Amino acid sequence: MSRNPGTAAAPYDVCIVGSGAGGGMAAYALTKAGANVILLEAGGPWYGSKDSKMMVPNYASPRRGASTKTRPFGEFDACDGGWEIEGEPYTVADGSSFLWWRARMLGGRTNHWGRISLRFGPDDFKRKSIDGLGDDWPISYDDVAPYFDRVDRLIGIYGSHEGIRNEPDGIFHPPPAPRCYELLVKKASDRLGVTCIPARRSVITRPLNGRMPCHYCGQCYRGCATRSNFSSPDVLIAPALETGKLTLLTNAMVREVITGPDGRATGVSYVNKKTGEEAQVRARVVVLTASALESARILLNSRSSRFPHGLANSSGTVGKYITDTTGSDVAGYIPAMENHVPHNEDGAGGMHVYMPWWLNNKNLDFPRGYHIEVWGGWRAPGAGFMGGIERYPPGGGYGKKLKDDYRRYYGATIGFSGRGEMIPNDESYCEIDKDVVDRFGIPVLRFHWKWTEHELNQVRHMHQTFRALVKEMGGQVFAPMPTKEQDYNIATGGQIIHELGGTRMGADAKTSVVNANCQAHDVPNLFVADGGPFVSQADKNPTWTILALAWRTSDYITDQMKKRAL
Ligand SMILES: Cc1cc2nc3c(=O)[nH]c(=O)nc-3n(C[C@H](O)[C@H](O)[C@H](O)COP(=O)(O)OP(=O)(O)OC[C@H]3O[C@@H](n4cnc5c(N)ncnc54)[C@H](O)[C@@H]3O)c2cc1C
Ligand code: SF4
Repeated sequence: MSRNPGTAAAPYDVCIVGSGAGGGMAAYALTKAGANVILLEAGGPWYGSKDSKMMVPNYASPRRGASTKTRPFGEFDACDGGWEIEGEPYTVADGSSFLWWRARMLGGRTNHWGRISLRFGPDDFKRKSIDGLGDDWPISYDDVAPYFDRVDRLIGIYGSHEGIRNEPDGIFHPPPAPRCYELLVKKASDRLGVTCIPARRSVITRPLNGRMPCHYCGQCYRGCATRSNFSSPDVLIAPALETGKLTLLTNAMVREVITGPDGRATGVSYVNKKTGEEAQVRARVVVLTASALESARILLNSRSSRFPHGLANSSGTVGKYITDTTGSDVAGYIPAMENHVPHNEDGAGGMHVYMPWWLNNKNLDFPRGYHIEVWGGWRAPGAGFMGGIERYPPGGGYGKKLKDDYRRYYGATIGFSGRGEMIPNDESYCEIDKDVVDRFGIPVLRFHWKWTEHELNQVRHMHQTFRALVKEMGGQVFAPMPTKEQDYNIATGGQIIHELGGTRMGADAKTSVVNANCQAHDVPNLFVADGGPFVSQADKNPTWTILALAWRTSDYITDQMKKRAL
């Protein structure tokens, strides 16, 4: 805690709930605009610049870096959270499968995320007009474009200018050169007509706003001690604190938004996780950025006689229209990459090339596209690396042969991950489970989930493409082509950790939760600035668009406060 929370006599201008991409951006933009802001975060403090284990070798630990309960991606990974959090369950309805990954730390998931930073394009805001499915957003790319530019300039991103219509170019730092295996992928892609271009990731390759460029240690997931990649605490919250306008309350689990007799939000109530005590914070405006589904949960739990079905829910759509990115992976072994001459492939902690959606869905049996992420090659190996040498022909054994096989095969693996667009459907939603509460006594979410033929056919196409690419590289795939009965190995709902929706935006208050400015239709001083207001998923990772929209929402709040309309 950096200062005392507000009192009834001195409410804050704005109370923000959650400090990830949306909350960090709102805190930055609002404090820079002069607002007196309080930010409540359920997790504890964590700054990559101070707390990162970027330079610790795996062999320094007896666990060799293997995962722990609270660090599921590895002992030295930045993330504090995971698929299961002790005392904070969620439930899944019979017949559904869903996984919910949550971070509980300052900066939320932005401490670990892959930093693949893709702008939604013009078509992504108007898909219903193109193919009649889902819904259009009430705003267009042109409304968000100036904010994408601002995010690029403030946070920094590497990439290249390609002029692809629905993959808008940004203000890029130079991308790192492709690694050896990425050059092979590029050659195979070119031969098969698959567009393959430099990746777009929020890693800086030039000095920016007092931050050092990346030195290619390859450890982005551990958090960056030199602040060369984007995390909310180091890039947004630290400068917001420097304004003197931000009060930061960590270990504060928000239970609900509280409202006054006029139905307007007056603040939030929260549980102090250290003492277990319940307290309230008062503010003129409340901004929810607890992550898409957590924000829906807070609203559904904000019940009163005036709002018996939860706050901002007169449409009954809070928790509805939720989506996740579709996903499936294929890994292969490429003999041409065996027995490499030792060389450095560290790079910028993630991929240097990727494939944006390159086909026209009008010619296919599924309506929306996907992009391809590429992995493989040489890196500092972690615990359990290569996933079992016995899979390589004729790998394994003991003693010298085992060591020789490791040297021969390490770096000869290539992998492709498809990340595609799901269309919202009526059978994928969340609601409050009336029978289960978390350790704070707060009712938890229950999930319903269904993939449709649209997503399954798309994932089948991913597998066909990945297999064609591996074959074109002269390699062999480890696993057989999954069948329709196996749902083509589509990832479980939520598993790609790009969940969106639940408080979608729209012009019509009867079918949406917030308006085009992410302001609740029912409660004018309540906003949602995470992935909740997203109307569609797009074939892009969502965070760059969350950041741009959160800045746009913050500007609207500032403008309305100046006009005394809030
Ligand atoms: C492994 C992984 C890889 C990813 N890779 C990418 C990628 O490459 N590109 C991309 O675009 N996206 C990626 N993502 C997704 C990205 O991290 C999220 O889209 C982004 O962080 C969402 O921001 P947010 O502000 O909505 O939520 P979060 O970042 O999750 O932050 C929400 C915060 O709110 C807090 N909170 C929750 N409930 C409460 C409460 N009741 N009271 C107080 N605080 C609360 C949480 O503790 C958390 O700190 C990845 C995520 C993961 C986990
Ligand atoms: S690869 Fe670059 S951005 Fe990533 S942790 Fe290392 S120095 Fe930081």
